[in-house]
Amino acid sequence: MTPRYVRIHPRDNVAIVVNEGGLKAGTAFPDGLVLAEPVREAHKVALEPIPKGQPIRRYGEVIGLAGRDINAGAWVREEFVELPAPPALDQVALATAAPPAGASIGGLEFDGYPNPDGAAGTRNILAITTTVQCVAPTVEFAVRRIRDEILPHYPGVDGVMALAHAYGCGVAIDAPDAEIPIRTLRNLSLNPNISSEPLVVSLGCEKLPPSRLFPEGSPLPVLSGEPWVVRLQDEEYRGFGDMVAAIMRLAEKRIERLSRRQRVPCPASLLNVGVQCGGSDAFSGVTANPVVGHAADLLVRAGATVMFSEVTEVRDAVHLLGPRAATVEVGRALLREMAWFDEYLRRGSADRSANPTPGNKRGGLSNIVEKALGSVAKSGTSALTHVAGPGERVSAKGLVFAATPASDFICGTLQTAAGMNVHVFTTGEGTPYGLGAVPVIKISSRTALARRWPDLIDLDAGRVASGESTLEQMGWELVRLILDTASGRNRACAERWKLDNPLALFNPAPVT
Ligand code: CA
Repeated sequence: MTPRYVRIHPRDNVAIVVNEGGLKAGTAFPDGLVLAEPVREAHKVALEPIPKGQPIRRYGEVIGLAGRDINAGAWVREEFVELPAPPALDQVALATAAPPAGASIGGLEFDGYPNPDGAAGTRNILAITTTVQCVAPTVEFAVRRIRDEILPHYPGVDGVMALAHAYGCGVAIDAPDAEIPIRTLRNLSLNPNISSEPLVVSLGCEKLPPSRLFPEGSPLPVLSGEPWVVRLQDEEYRGFGDMVAAIMRLAEKRIERLSRRQRVPCPASLLNVGVQCGGSDAFSGVTANPVVGHAADLLVRAGATVMFSEVTEVRDAVHLLGPRAATVEVGRALLREMAWFDEYLRRGSADRSANPTPGNKRGGLSNIVEKALGSVAKSGTSALTHVAGPGERVSAKGLVFAATPASDFICGTLQTAAGMNVHVFTTGEGTPYGLGAVPVIKISSRTALARRWPDLIDLDAGRVASGESTLEQMGWELVRLILDTASGRNRACAERWKLDNPLALFNPAPVT
């Protein structure tokens, strides 16, 4: 392969090396630029001299200031890039450049399971909610027996799982921020893929009883008059065997009902696609995330909901998103979530510089600004129509910012609570991540990863960097993969291996 770099914006003074294995000192690019030293694959090369203190530009934006004089052809290492201040929230323009709605795309459908609350599942799963960690192993025990003894009789049901977590007691349940984990658990129990109907196991003495998890007036879905709570401390249970039998009895009734459901054609507007990245590298923002962004634009035009998240990976690009807000109110909601997270990090004596991982840096990402500029490419180019707080259920259509931390597991858990029924996940360094309730479509930023992990990566966006495919072609390819996966015609790799990372609740409130 001839020496190749990718420059994203004409104003950029750095570009990333594309060649697998990197390039040696003295390598000449077709435009005459010569490498002054070896540069690793996905790392940055200076396209022109950058004097100390001057801006380093990628994506047409400043990703940092040169910490020393950098020569043309030099490797722009992480330690040469000084972190600039984040965009001031009170100076972000709001709703000044909301893109007009694109021409609507009709006829996109998937075969799903409509639920009584108006959402639709892409899977037909029984989930058992736990109100407190004390009951989790008991529920896991029952789940194993249900899988072995009951599920084989009901082939139309995709699975059974425990919504197990470490919350529910020993926590400051009345602290203002406690609403976040509580509503997350409530909304997880109402996810469309688990038929939006909770089945709850409680201990009895915990701080978060079922009546607090589903308070009166909360949108409890239609329950067919069946009991939906098992309370282990109830007098009627004589020992462990009784408790497990009670859970299994209610579970079997529910499974019997789930097994009678059939997939029916559903419009794309019933898709709720949560997009996320993890183990990102410098290619993520060039290949995988823009492919997702293109698919997001198509899905929005087809009437679907597309959620992007990960506050710390949006914070440094908020000046690009604020103008795209559909209304000033939506823009203000975006800034409110940014400000809340700034304060949350400040309370923990941390800031956004804590985000990039050693793997991100190995993959060529110098800092959070560069990571964020690549990350927001997942949001495409549509107007931002709605902003949701962590763990809130999203019913709005179009492009939605659902605020979550960037942690893969916490983001995945919160997007599941927000009502996601398909998850799209991009990765550069690679991760076998998967979720129990929602199929996870994984997209590699480089072909080398897709080749190394053919049974874990569902789509290779590295084909964009090599010139084998275009963003537009791959955007449509991803939309078709999403529809096939939503319809159950395709099972995502992580799903075939039954990889389900445990739920990770976001609890910003104190524990006691
Ligand atoms: Ca992530």
